[in-house]
Parts: sequence; C-alpha cells; structure tokens
Amino acid sequence: MNKILDFIKNFHLSKQLFLLIFLAFCLSVIARLYWVFWASSFVGFFHNNELMISTNDGYAFAEGTRDMLAGFHQPNDLSYFGSSLSTLTFWIVKLFDLNIESVMIYLSVILSSLVVIPIILIAREYNALKAGFIAALLGSVANSYYNRTMAGYYDTDMLIIVFGVFLIWGVIRVLESKDAKSLIIAPITILAYMWWYLSAFSLIAATTILLAFYTLVFDRKNALNYILIAFMLLAISNFDQYAKFALILAIYLVILFKKSLLTLKISIAILVGAFAFFAINGGLNPIIFQLKFYVFRNVSELSNLSFHYFNVNQTIQESGIVDLVLFCERISGHVLTFAVSLFGTLLLCIKKRSFIVALGMLLLGFLALKGGLRFTIYAVPVMAIGFGYVIVFVLEKLKFSGILFKTVYIFIAVLSLYPVATHIYNYKISPVFDAKEVRVLDELKRISGREDYVLTWWDYGYPIRYYSDVKTLIDGGKHLGRDNFAVSFALGENQTSSVNMARLEVEYTERNFNEKFGANLNQILKEYESQDVNLFLNSLNDKSFKLPKKTREIYYYLPERMLNIFPTILQFSRLDLKTGQKWNDPVFFTTKYFRQDSDKIALANGITITSDMRNIVAGNNKIQVNSFLETKYNENGKLEVTEYNFDTNAKIYIIFMRDYGRFLVIDESMFNSVFIQLFALERYDEELFEPVILDSATKIYRLKK
Ligand code: MG
Repeated sequence: MNKILDFIKNFHLSKQLFLLIFLAFCLSVIARLYWVFWASSFVGFFHNNELMISTNDGYAFAEGTRDMLAGFHQPNDLSYFGSSLSTLTFWIVKLFDLNIESVMIYLSVILSSLVVIPIILIAREYNALKAGFIAALLGSVANSYYNRTMAGYYDTDMLIIVFGVFLIWGVIRVLESKDAKSLIIAPITILAYMWWYLSAFSLIAATTILLAFYTLVFDRKNALNYILIAFMLLAISNFDQYAKFALILAIYLVILFKKSLLTLKISIAILVGAFAFFAINGGLNPIIFQLKFYVFRNVSELSNLSFHYFNVNQTIQESGIVDLVLFCERISGHVLTFAVSLFGTLLLCIKKRSFIVALGMLLLGFLALKGGLRFTIYAVPVMAIGFGYVIVFVLEKLKFSGILFKTVYIFIAVLSLYPVATHIYNYKISPVFDAKEVRVLDELKRISGREDYVLTWWDYGYPIRYYSDVKTLIDGGKHLGRDNFAVSFALGENQTSSVNMARLEVEYTERNFNEKFGANLNQILKEYESQDVNLFLNSLNDKSFKLPKKTREIYYYLPERMLNIFPTILQFSRLDLKTGQKWNDPVFFTTKYFRQDSDKIALANGITITSDMRNIVAGNNKIQVNSFLETKYNENGKLEVTEYNFDTNAKIYIIFMRDYGRFLVIDESMFNSVFIQLFALERYDEELFEPVILDSATKIYRLKK
C-alpha cells in the first residue's frame, strides 16, 4: 500500500493542480452545453425525447452500438459492430443504464473536455501551471476543436486530440523529470490510441521520430530516452494489443525493480530489439510504400476492363487557396491570438527544448494549408500551450505580481476567449435528420426486414441503417464512383431501367460479399455475355429484361432534401463509362424563392415564367414549355396533380409543388426520372412499384420486381 502511495506521490499531484483541471474542465463542458440549450427549443430536433446527433458518420457508430446491445447483426450489413466508439458507447450504456441517444449527444461533451488534463500536466512539467490554465481554457474550445467535438458530434474525434496530447505529455514527462516510472505513460496511451483510431499511426510515428531527434541532439547520454523510444516502437508495432502490452509491462517492471539495468548499453540493446520487432512486423511498410510510389512511380495500372467512373472528390469544391484568416481562427479563435500563439510555441521550443516533440502534432495541424481545413484541430492544443506560455512569460518579465498580475492575466484570458465564445454562439448546427423524417424511418423499420435493401443516396446511408435496421448499397464510408454509379443510375433513369438496375445491383452486391468477384458491373456484363457496357445499359430499358432471382425486398427512399443535390447525384451516372466523357448537364433547376408579379413569376437566378406558364425567360432566351404541372395535397392528405399541356415538341417542364413552396424547371429526361416521377408526382408504374410510405417529407416505394 505504502509503495502505491509513494508511487502516486512521486507524480506531485497538488490540490492546486486538481482545482485548475476541474475548473477548466467545467468551463469546457459548459461551453458545449450552449448548443444543447439552443437546440432544445426546436421540437423537430428531438427523437425519443432526446436531441438527435448532427454528424452523419455518427450514425455508423450508432448502428454498431445498437447491434452490440442487441447482441447480433446481419452478415454483410456493414455494421460498425465492435468498433472502438461503438464498444465504448456500449459499455457506458450498459454500466450506467443510460439511453443510447443521450450518450450519443453528451459523450463528446465529456470526453473532449478531458483534453484540459494533459494540457495542464504538460505545463506543470515546465513549472508553468498558470500558463497551462490559460492554455486549457483556450485549447479545449477553440473553433475547429469545438466544431468537431460539440454536443451531438458523435464521432471518434472526441478522443483523437485527447490521446495525442496525453502522448506528448507522457514523452515530455520522461524528458523533463527523468523519472523511470513515467516511462509507461506514453506506451499505454499509444495502445489505447491505436485501438481508438488506427490512423493515429502517422502522428505517433512522427512524435517518435522527433523524440529520437531530440535524444540524438540534446540528450544522448540518457538511457531512459532509448527505452521510451523502444516502448513507443513496440506499442505501434503491428501485433496483438495484449501481447504488446504484456511485453512492454514486463520490460518496464524489470527496469523499475532493477534500476542497475538502466545503463546506456542495455537500453540501446532494448531499442535495437524493439526496432527489429517493429520492422519484422511490417512497421516500415508505409515508408517503403511511399518510397516506391514517389521514387519508382509504381502506380498500379488500370486494367482494360475497368471503367471510367466519376470520382467523389470531383464533387467536392476545391478552394485552391486556403483562407488564411479562417485557418488562424480555426486554430486559435482569432488571427491575433494565432500570431501570439505561434510566437509562444517557438519561444517554448527554445526555452524548453523537450517541447519539440509536440511539433509533429502542430505540423499535422498546419497540413490544413495543403490537405484541407479538417486537419486544423491537431494544432489547437499545441498552439494554446504556446499562447499560455508566452503570456505568463511576458507578465513575469515585466515583474507583474500580486493583484496586478492576476488582473492582467484574467483580462487576457477573457480577451482570448471572447472570439471563441462568439464563434460558439453563432455555430448553430442542426441535426442530420429532423423528427418527421425519423418517424418515417421508424415506420419503415416495422415494415421491412433486416436483410432488405434501401436504395438511396449515400448521405442517408448510415442514418437509415440506424433507424430502420436495413441494408444499404452506399453510405458515408462506401461511395466510390463505381458504388455510386448504380444508385445514381437508378434514381435518374426511367422506371423500367431503374428497377432492373436496382435488382441487379442488390443481388450482385450480396453475392459479391461471398464470391468476391470485384466490381459488380464487370461480373454482370460477364454473366449476361455483353461486350458493350453502353448497349447493356440501354437494354435495361425493357420490362422483359431477365433478372436474377429475387432474394429480398428493395425499397427506394426519396426525401425532399434530395431535390437540392439531385444534379450532383446524377453526375455519377450521366457519363460514358468507356471513355469517362460526361454527358451534357441536364436542365434541373429548383427554387423556393419566387415572386408573383402581374405579368410573370420571378424565380431565383433571374429566371422568370410568363404568367400564362407557356414560356420560360432566362436572360434574352425565351423557351417554350411542354407542360406545367401543379401538385397539391387535398383535404384527405392525398397528392393531386393538375397538368396543363402546351407544346408536345417543347423539352422543358415546370412543376409547381404548392405545399412545398417549390418550383422545378426541368428537361424531359429529368421529368421522366424515377425521382421526379415518384417523389414529386407520385406517378409510379404499378407493375414496377408499390408505395409504402407517402409522407410529404419522404416517400418510400417497394420494388415489385
Ligand atoms: Mg442490421
């Protein structure tokens, strides 16, 4: 017992330390509760008496947790059963007997706020607790970290930064205190980190390299450093987690109980052994792969059989130049704070050289300048420590003390937090779905079976799987061009082609899980003995097309919100697969903004409709309208369509969805697409479709083929 107490005492945990951690933690939690307070006034944000989450990917973990609580899931359902966040949520729900929906909303609030602990502990290693407190206040809420860990942001992000900063503390602790007992902090953090988030490998590897650099340049004679590098290498080796833990623990205990072993020779020998273990288990492969890629240009060749699909990242708008102001604000809340923080970080690296091990995390954050703003969260805590350090450094240089010090200190803290608080106040994110849509999905769950498929765009994949417990073709993690093609085709083509494609894609997707034949379409062409993909796709427009045996039901999920992204969806199938050549963009214009004048209806973007509805005027062009259709719900809640045909040769159609307050201006192919026919007009071919749920927000049909 005394030994344990001594062990704990050795870490010098003071009351002041606990108090500062507690205070910073509470402020971080309170800041995140503001969203809960704001969101709670909207009925549409609630489901099962709890707010709904605001991140799409969160529903993947939610499905995993739900399945773990049920104790089973279906083969090939892509459930995140057993994933780290699902497992953690499962245990919390079980142990504390909580509602899964509440855990999904509040888990990020609690866990992400834990980042204040390692921030303050790092500062304490430099005898700069006051700096650590400011750093914790800023680092726990600064813009991008807040955005990615706010209430309802149910994602692995909630611990990614926490683990990263704990790792840096574990390394700095050994370097600063030269305490052998502390050797275990970093490897344990790494084991937990790698379990939580496999991609942490690069950050850990970078930190290890920085530690090796620090050791060689500044601290060559310190045996502890070599052991620490060895432990870190063992911890990231591609090997069984428990075996790695046992191995590290064994070496650690031997060293603790036999301090005489801690010689330079022995520790270097351990490091060599650990490096060999790391390399034998393929630890160098990522590096070798990169070398091959850049030096030998050994890019995998495209086989003749592969088609030219449309790529998802082509739909993401590339800004080219990162907005520098936004970059600074995302990291430190304000450009000025950013500048001071950057200076402070450099100063800290000069004054306390061990802080250079934090530069890997900082650089990963600065990758945002090249790789996209989502990386900025990594820089937040490191820069916050730099900020706290330089503020206290200057105040002490100016010999401020007593009440003067406290006043200026608090003033600066408040000043630095003000822009962050403004950001939090304005950052009002809505849940992914609203209550109306979820009620429809609840109903679908009652109607459908767990093996049935729902065909819809990938944005809705995870949430639908969570609420309705069905299977989907594409989701937030599976949306390559070739995966999206079939769904895009099925939503954009006419009803006959659509149904044939949907049945083929679902049956071949299921078969593919077992037979592993690569791309579905290639296998389909092979089995249908077709040489030409375009001819084959045309042949789908035939009600007598011979389909494979039906093994399950297929539902089409058609929400109103899909109208806004329909042109983007269509890009994935409106192209020549043989050449990658895009077809001409379809005419598809939708707006909820319009104004009725005496002689015309003015829509958004300067487009107007003549009051007789026969012509569209866009700029100097006057275009004939084929038909004008108005949809309206009658007193029984049934959709009624009134149609006026003007010119059978004209190619443009206008649909006015009165109850939605929405105009559609579309061409013939869009007019005939499944989505428009089934969602906007409810004109389904009774041989092919059967309506299941016709809610105004979302319509669901079952395939009859
Ligand atoms: Mg399932």
